[in-house]
Amino acid sequence: MRIRFTAEQQAFREEVRSFVSQNLSDGAEFSDELRGEMGWSPAFSRKLAERGWIALAWPREYGGAGLGFMEQVIFNEEMSYAQAPIGAHRRGVFYVGPILILYGTEEQRRVHLRAITEGMGYYCQGFSEPGAGSDLASLTTRAVRDGDDYLVSGQKIWTADAHRSDYCWLAARTDPAAPKHKGISNFILDMHAPGVTVRPLVNMAGGHSFNEVFFDNVRVPAVNLVGEENRGWYQTAATLDFERSSIAVFAGTKRFLDDFAVVLRGRPRRQRDVFAVADLYTGVLVGQLLSYFIASVQEGGGVPNREASAAKLLSSELRQRASATALEALGPAGAVQAGPGALAGGLYVREYLAGVSATIAGGTSEIQRGVIATRGLGLPRG
Ligand SMILES: Cc1cc2nc3c(=O)[nH]c(=O)nc-3n(C[C@H](O)[C@H](O)[C@H](O)COP(=O)(O)OP(=O)(O)OC[C@H]3O[C@@H](n4cnc5c(N)ncnc54)[C@H](O)[C@@H]3O)c2cc1C
Repeated sequence: MRIRFTAEQQAFREEVRSFVSQNLSDGAEFSDELRGEMGWSPAFSRKLAERGWIALAWPREYGGAGLGFMEQVIFNEEMSYAQAPIGAHRRGVFYVGPILILYGTEEQRRVHLRAITEGMGYYCQGFSEPGAGSDLASLTTRAVRDGDDYLVSGQKIWTADAHRSDYCWLAARTDPAAPKHKGISNFILDMHAPGVTVRPLVNMAGGHSFNEVFFDNVRVPAVNLVGEENRGWYQTAATLDFERSSIAVFAGTKRFLDDFAVVLRGRPRRQRDVFAVADLYTGVLVGQLLSYFIASVQEGGGVPNREASAAKLLSSELRQRASATALEALGPAGAVQAGPGALAGGLYVREYLAGVSATIAGGTSEIQRGVIATRGLGLPRG
């Protein structure tokens, strides 16, 4: 397979780069904490919306830019390299929107796709529960039909950004008597509805991004059921495929390595650290090629599955190896988290601590290896 960008695609990359440098140039509007793929900045989301750049690969009729998946990858690369804060609209664009386009009603598309493309409807993802993570189909949060509504009760956990989202993209059990994969449905649940309680969970890097969420007889209008009742598992699985391919942002690791290489050049260094960095750059290049391959699968109308798992596995492990390599090469200086002695404001140790969760979020590395083994290599299920 030969990958070459067209002149138009190169020009598009330059356009995105220039937009980012103009809109993120002085950093005054976005603190460090807000930067990056998970960075949450409604102001930046709206700037992208004004430019028509929230949902590049969605069809125009749904408010998208009608561009190709390759343009979407180019865009993601530039955003990720610039550490632009796209977290507020990311789930809407990459996970929820594609499912609504495939399975939503006209009314759901009209209301919810428009909010997403205007940079306003923000989603968290309510899948995992205390007893259902890797084995997501064991989830027990219930949605019981009650007239024109469903009543939702149960608990979700590790729900990233639940404390600042408008909606929850929910997987709940609608038929407890059916085999576990066959009694699940998807809903759009209003996070401001009575009966929703969000409790923060602070991670080991001291950050608050995820939460526990409790639902106590929350009324969800039946018009917010997405797709057929009890057929939600297949949509949930497709959401995870979209999620895995979109979180594989290799350009972010390239940026980390580029910045780290500058620091390394100015210090006494060991040859093994230089080799380790070179090895990481090779991994980033492989990952970028994999991203282009995934875009070509999507361009052909497919949902990337084993490819998405491979990209997620590679990007999360690269991210961890990059920060571990940096900490090892920098010695104690790299481990200072705050104060005058902290290198790059404590970036290296922060990235090391935050990166631990990368091989868990979105499905653990073991689960990705299982998908690659069974669906990619055709090995029997264990
Ligand atoms: C930073 C972060 C953000 C997250 N955000 C969200 C979110 O927004 N919404 C959401 O719903 N969830 C979210 N999650 C939850 C995440 O999806 C789960 O943590 C993940 O799927 C693992 O589930 P678990 O924690 O229950 O671990 P378990 O499933 O209990 O796994 C425990 C261990 O057993 C291994 N294991 C389990 N099953 C198998 C198997 N079949 N084969 C081999 N090994 C296996 C796992 O790999 C792991 O090492 C987030 C998690 C993190 C860390």
